[in-house]
Amino acid sequence: QNMKKYFPIKAGLLQKTVGNVKAVDGITLKVKKGETLGIVGESGCGKSTAGRTIIRLYEPTEGKIIFKGQDISHMGESELRKSIRKDIQMIFQDPFATLNPRKTLRSIIKEPMNTHNLYKPKERDEKVKELLETVGLNSSFINRYPHEFSGGQRQRIGIARALALKPDLIIADEAVSALDVSIQAQIINLMQDLQKDFGLTYIFISHDLSVVRHISDRVAVLYLGQMMELANKVDLYANPLHPYTQALLSAVPVPKGSKGVKRERIVLKGELPSPSNPPTGCVFHTRCPAATEICKQVVPQFKEVEKDHFVACHLYE
Ligand code: SF4
Ligand code: MG
Repeated sequence: QNMKKYFPIKAGLLQKTVGNVKAVDGITLKVKKGETLGIVGESGCGKSTAGRTIIRLYEPTEGKIIFKGQDISHMGESELRKSIRKDIQMIFQDPFATLNPRKTLRSIIKEPMNTHNLYKPKERDEKVKELLETVGLNSSFINRYPHEFSGGQRQRIGIARALALKPDLIIADEAVSALDVSIQAQIINLMQDLQKDFGLTYIFISHDLSVVRHISDRVAVLYLGQMMELANKVDLYANPLHPYTQALLSAVPVPKGSKGVKRERIVLKGELPSPSNPPTGCVFHTRCPAATEICKQVVPQFKEVEKDHFVACHLYE
């Protein structure tokens, strides 16, 4: 609810705070149990910060994060450990960077079980083997090291580790962005199978609209830390309302012979403004082809203009 995450900008000898980077600037959304919510936007739009704040790697500057009825916005680490650390897991873009090269898959995947004291110690090796099979790896790999595996296999290891604690919610931040297209499809199919088998809920963060379309039930579009549009995926892709969403979608190639709507490519002028000094009024007005005078002065309300279809734009007021 109205979640904000600002990072102070420090300057000078005394490291005085001279401003804020408004990475996330007032996001309100709900994620329903069992669904996949996609979050899309250009790099620098605040989607990773949003994910890390939801999982409480960061404390929000303002607003609330409610998880399963519990306000986790300002919980300390020991409280988080007792309540939600097990239930929310994250998968990152580059699993290699987060897999300790000196540890075997056994100890990498077992570590969270040890930390949270899940399963009897004697059972844990068996669980690790089970998890490896679950993500499509051979259980005989248990004594191998991360460098022995390909990018796609390493992402499977990352997923096995995320599943080790039987989470409810998994936040995937650009989880397939570094992989070849054919491997991307395999990992996404795996994630969809796991979702069915374990009743998982996903927040799927990506700059890639085609991938998000494939996996998501609903999609949120972020720009400069704010929500521009939110709708179920069919409505969003068939009938994008926000000029920013329209521009993003116009850049996605439509395969030859497909029934997809052919769109005129909309090229946005200018650069993404700095989140430390966002434009007044509608944050998108400096690049919006439809901007008028009011857009420079008045912040558009984020509101429902069609059933379950939300947009922040003066064109719909
Ligand atoms: Fe464009 Fe104005 Fe709508 Fe913002 S409010 S997206 S500037 S038309
Ligand atoms: Mg990011």
